[in-house]
Amino acid sequence: MSRVRTALVIGGGIAGPVTALALAKAGIQSTIYEAHAAAAEGVGSMLSVAPNGLAALEIIGAAKAVEAIGQPVPGVVMADGGGNRLAEFGGFPGLPATLAMARADLFRALSDHAVACGVPIEYGKRLVTAEETPTGVTATFSDGTTATADVLIGADGIRSTVRTLIDPGAPGPEYGGVLSFGGYSGGSGVEAEPGSMYFAFGRTFIGYWRLPDDRVCWFAGLPRTEPLTSAEAGRVPAADWLARLRELYAGHVPGEALLGHTEPRDLMVVGPMERMPSVSRWHRGRMVLVGDSAHAPSSSSGQGASLAVESAVELARCLRDLPVAAAFTAYEHLRRPRVEMIGGDAAAKNKAKAGQAGAQPAMPAPEQMFAAVHRHHIDWDATVVADHDVTGE
Ligand SMILES: Cc1cc2nc3c(=O)[nH]c(=O)nc-3n(C[C@H](O)[C@H](O)[C@H](O)COP(=O)(O)OP(=O)(O)OC[C@H]3O[C@@H](n4cnc5c(N)ncnc54)[C@H](O)[C@@H]3O)c2cc1C
Repeated sequence: MSRVRTALVIGGGIAGPVTALALAKAGIQSTIYEAHAAAAEGVGSMLSVAPNGLAALEIIGAAKAVEAIGQPVPGVVMADGGGNRLAEFGGFPGLPATLAMARADLFRALSDHAVACGVPIEYGKRLVTAEETPTGVTATFSDGTTATADVLIGADGIRSTVRTLIDPGAPGPEYGGVLSFGGYSGGSGVEAEPGSMYFAFGRTFIGYWRLPDDRVCWFAGLPRTEPLTSAEAGRVPAADWLARLRELYAGHVPGEALLGHTEPRDLMVVGPMERMPSVSRWHRGRMVLVGDSAHAPSSSSGQGASLAVESAVELARCLRDLPVAAAFTAYEHLRRPRVEMIGGDAAAKNKAKAGQAGAQPAMPAPEQMFAAVHRHHIDWDATVVADHDVTGE
């Protein structure tokens, strides 16, 4: 197989536009195919992009576009749910601040940036199947149209179709025992210094930070044995969910105050907390996975978006330097240990949030917790060398 010149990128969320931008930097032309009719359709809630994600965005020239929509939150405060601080951390000197933002804003900023850089995005294109030939791969979409290129990249999220095309026996997402919510609270009576993300554990967990308009944005979970889909959860009146959350957080500091000052209209029903079990096949032939389709560590890690961005940049670097098979193998070797280490940590945090790990999670100092994750650096200019067992031809 010769070097890759063209790619079909399936999914226009976070990994999709970043992959396309990184491929362009590597000299590979691509088109993004997104199932929804427009950018950022149907994506609620907030997320954070950590310094490691920003460093990867810097490589492809997209960091400024993301900084423009983010609120800097460099600090971390851990508390015990009784109003006592357990640990605090001001961020690593020399690294940019973690940025908090609406998920929909990030989707839009990245797709706008990709379009501005000349990447074509086709909306309303839901991939249903793909077929390989000796020289390429042809994708078929639900509207009956097709597209062909040298490789197909599945940036199609946690319910990836490409993952199943690569391996029909691939696992799907696992329910983490918690239904996630977010909300905006009037914020009075809650200690939340601007610029710090607070994580209050104890009997149950709530995370929060102060917004520039002085309200407090929070995220929390309701332990629940039976999973509900986001659509099912959304059909329950917000006032009912709020009542259940208030009951759960009664006596929790500051959960009780945060929920007490949240109006039903300011509640976001985020949906079931999920993570992907280890995906044994990331690639087959001319198809490969990137982002949540390969590794979705659950929202507990605060790293889903940042890891998706890192993987997208590394995949492009491998395709720049190696033929297809060798590139995909090198990419997986570069990425799997890191994403599985971070995914494992998040699974432990989920148990704490679901009340399955005792009253208080064992917690290392924040510096120790974040150093290896936040300081990660991709050397774009370094040439990727093939693993010994792969010829790539
Ligand atoms: C509630 C919540 C909170 C989160 N908080 C954080 C956080 O604080 N920090 C963090 O880093 N991460 C967080 N995450 C995770 C983060 O949102 C994901 O890791 C990230 O969006 C992954 O990007 P992706 O591009 O791989 O997948 P997605 O963002 O899911 O994008 C996949 C895209 O593919 C499209 N698609 C799907 N199937 C097809 C198909 N067959 N054909 C064409 N297109 C298709 C979808 O419409 C979608 O646009 C959170 C996630 C959730 C749900």
